[in-house]
Amino acid sequence: MKTNKIINIAVIGVGHLGNHHAKHYSQMESSKLIGVFDINETRCNEIAKKYNTKAFQSLDSLLEEADAVSVATPTVYHKEVSETCIKKGTHVFIEKPITKTVKEADELLALAKKHKTIVQVGHIERLNPAILPLNEFDMNPKFIEVQRLAPYMSRGTDVPVVLDLMIHDIDLVLAFVKSSVKYIHASGVSIMTDSVDMANARIRFENGTVASITSSRVAKDRVRKIKIFQQDLYITIDFLIGLTEIYRVMDDNQTDPAAIMSAPLESNGKHRQIFYEKPEIKKQDALRKELENFVESIRGNTKPIVDGQAGRNALDVAIQIHDKILEDLH
Ligand code: NAD
Repeated sequence: MKTNKIINIAVIGVGHLGNHHAKHYSQMESSKLIGVFDINETRCNEIAKKYNTKAFQSLDSLLEEADAVSVATPTVYHKEVSETCIKKGTHVFIEKPITKTVKEADELLALAKKHKTIVQVGHIERLNPAILPLNEFDMNPKFIEVQRLAPYMSRGTDVPVVLDLMIHDIDLVLAFVKSSVKYIHASGVSIMTDSVDMANARIRFENGTVASITSSRVAKDRVRKIKIFQQDLYITIDFLIGLTEIYRVMDDNQTDPAAIMSAPLESNGKHRQIFYEKPEIKKQDALRKELENFVESIRGNTKPIVDGQAGRNALDVAIQIHDKILEDLH
């Protein structure tokens, strides 16, 4: 049922990311930030004061007032916290990864179905403005190459790099490739921590598509690039600078001056020609967009772009990759 009701939202866990969730909810017209809760009382009071909202003393008291929440605690607590919310009929936006294990995710999704609550997951790259021009294309990739490298920071290192960084790209690849995983080859190394800090995975899908994903949290410079190859189309995106470049191959019987490359005339009387496009990227805050998508989904005006099932599927592949890496190491 559609409604224009202002949604009463609270944020649970107001560390680095939860702070931004609180900021956006406090600014959005469709939502009212009714408060925050954090087990760190000092931090809870600080963020409540910053956004002129209430610092709840307990999760239970927050759930008495909230229609919906963002769960931005460390991943190990996502299941426990989200479960408490869903049981009260509260819609949940869970930061990525959805949970620590697939079993936990499945239990949450079953509970959400029972209580008819929305579960959305913070795979923010789906709302990256550089990816939006791809909506115009009939995507049927044959090969995808992704690189995500970041300088070392202690934040996020409570989970291996596959669950911290690579899962963003796994979600993107699964969104592009409409096929199930056939097999995975993966390897990785520990550099700064005792867990895997650098990983490469090669995923082969049932439809023949191959994705190669490299992620590292021990790099000198940040890199976030994706290259997508399919019949008559090559797309390259640099997420950091917001540059999307599209190379389309088309046949014509005349050499088009707009083509950047024209192959010799073929027996069918046509030239294979390559056309280059650089779509204008409209700047937008991806977090703001995904939180707006959450609120509008609650209001019945749309559906979550990344629902609980998509979050669960990305986690499933991430864990399979991590397990392969551990097998390879031992
Ligand atoms: P953080 O450590 O900065 O903040 C976590 C906060 O949660 C802390 O203030 C902590 O006191 C609080 N907390 C811990 N347990 C709690 C509980 N049971 N109830 C209430 N509060 C609790 O962590 P962060 O970097 O903000 O990461 C939070 C989540 O966001 C993680 O799941 C992480 O993977 C995810 N994340 C997503 C992105 C993204 O790009 N979408 C980026 C960074 C982090």
